[in-house]
Amino acid sequence: MSLQGKTAVVTGSNSGIGLGVARELARAGADVVLNSFTDGDENHALAAALSAEFGVSARYIKADMSVGEECRGLIEAAGSCDILVNNAGIQHVAPIDEFPQDKWDAIIAINLNSAFHTTAAALPLMRAKGWGRVINIASAHGLTASPFKSAYVAAKHGVVGMTKAVALETAQEPITCNAVCPGYVLTPLVEAQIPATMEEYGMDRETVIKEVMLARQPSKEFATVEQLGGTVVFLCSSAAAQMTGTTLSVDGGWTAL
Ligand code: NAD
Repeated sequence: MSLQGKTAVVTGSNSGIGLGVARELARAGADVVLNSFTDGDENHALAAALSAEFGVSARYIKADMSVGEECRGLIEAAGSCDILVNNAGIQHVAPIDEFPQDKWDAIIAINLNSAFHTTAAALPLMRAKGWGRVINIASAHGLTASPFKSAYVAAKHGVVGMTKAVALETAQEPITCNAVCPGYVLTPLVEAQIPATMEEYGMDRETVIKEVMLARQPSKEFATVEQLGGTVVFLCSSAAAQMTGTTLSVDGGWTAL
């Protein structure tokens, strides 16, 4: 399948799942816009590497997804947005009565509010071109909960709800909106929560991975960024044109339990 001529904007894509998704979209022929909130040369180098490897146009645009105007500014700066992948996300692990308010606010802003702003800005561009795909990277935590992740679970359930609302608003247009719900994927975000989880449960690293993280993932394997990228490319295909307002779990059976 070719996505040649389409422009994909992937928020939070200088690392982890976002970068993996951008790579698979570029492999399928889409021009890609990478994004994060930092300004280093390494970000532009990632875009140049994608361009060289896949022969597509690739740019890096700095925009902080915790700030509404910058979310909208990202879409404006991209100029074109046929495929919007709302992926930027952060995590913090703590019991709710000890949960720092600044962490709560940042998680809701980056993991949920950013998707509101980018989607609002991108839909008019999609409508002007008569085609669009909004793909929200939610989580198994958009469908189920875990202790100590109140803000993340709230944000991801919110993303799944917003996905359904946007799908209904665009149902009679050639635009779809879906959520992808990964289980555990070994990315920097997951690495970063291992120490806190070790402390919460009083376990060593290997035990946390096997008995806490992959405890609910029946496959006992992490999902990969390539699998997530392939799922996003599928959602951009004509085979997925009548799929809208739904969730696709890539979680090794987690939500089947
Ligand atoms: P990651 O930490 O590797 O990547 C997060 C990305 O978001 C990075 O590119 C980072 O620069 C970007 N980001 C963070 N704050 C930002 C901000 N203020 N503005 C712009 N960009 C910002 O994490 P990941 O695991 O690749 O997570 C990507 C998405 O997948 C997140 O939404 C996460 O919730 C979701 N997810 C991850 C897993 C997992 O197991 N890794 C599971 C389910 C869902």
